[in-house]
Amino acid sequence: MTDFEMIKEIKRLKIEKNAIILAHNYQVSEVQDIADFVGDSFGLSKIAYESKATTIVFCGVHFMAESAKILSPEKKVLLPVKKAGCPMADMITGESIRNFKADNHGVPVVCYVNTSAEVKAESDICCTSSNAVNVVNSLDSDRILFVPDQNLGNYVARQVPEKEIILFRGFCIVHHRVEIEEVDEIRRKLPDVRILAHPECQPEVLEKSDFVGSTSQILKEAKKSSDMEFIIGTEIGMLHVLQKENPEKKFHILSLALVCENMKKTSLKDVYEAIKGDKYEMTLDESLRIRAKKSLERMLEIKE
Ligand code: SF4
Repeated sequence: MTDFEMIKEIKRLKIEKNAIILAHNYQVSEVQDIADFVGDSFGLSKIAYESKATTIVFCGVHFMAESAKILSPEKKVLLPVKKAGCPMADMITGESIRNFKADNHGVPVVCYVNTSAEVKAESDICCTSSNAVNVVNSLDSDRILFVPDQNLGNYVARQVPEKEIILFRGFCIVHHRVEIEEVDEIRRKLPDVRILAHPECQPEVLEKSDFVGSTSQILKEAKKSSDMEFIIGTEIGMLHVLQKENPEKKFHILSLALVCENMKKTSLKDVYEAIKGDKYEMTLDESLRIRAKKSLERMLEIKE
């Protein structure tokens, strides 16, 4: 089957099965191009929740499809590639949070949305990279455990110096790879071009960047700025989104190491097979789902 035939068939199956296709900003370009919506993980889960579609094909990694299922239990949520996981999400378990809580009574736990349902269920509130500072600010306590990303947690701690942020030592294996030497080198090559970086990068990289924000904040910044060229410090798939939405502007990647192998596992063929054969359906224990949903709902009450 050619790509053209596959795309035609995917479009037909979408109508037949009342399905929508969601793709994360880090997916390969042909998957982004067949999707109904492209965005960040939580934005896509909200779209899934609000959609009238009964089947959601979530092109991303495991915790993303799981978050969509947490919010939309009545819908069929499909993750096209079963083994597309997130190494950072896998760095923490619900048990580590239970142990922390046993030793630190009353200290609230904020978990990044890049976590399993089990971790969400044990946490007090979730956050995204867009609202993490506001979520931490919304809590009464002066001590907070932030999991699992130490870099995002560190970034938040710097914005909220009046609180003690206890960091879990997890990290995104992709953003964490960016070396300070690479920042210096690209600065030398493109001295007048601003660097827009994701807070999952290491603190020294963020210090040398001109703007720090989530993927949606980077997209907004690139759109509204009068600059015509940018250096992007997040996963390389984001360049496709930025270029599509700003065809007159030029984007450079901060480091060639910014490639998430897990995000690149899903191909057009996987999307076709997923929608055709209902693969792979997310299932969740109902009591776990309800507990995980509470931390997401609490986050939704906070302004971005
Ligand atoms: S880019 Fe990082 S946080 Fe996102 S899925 Fe890949 S490893 Fe996980």
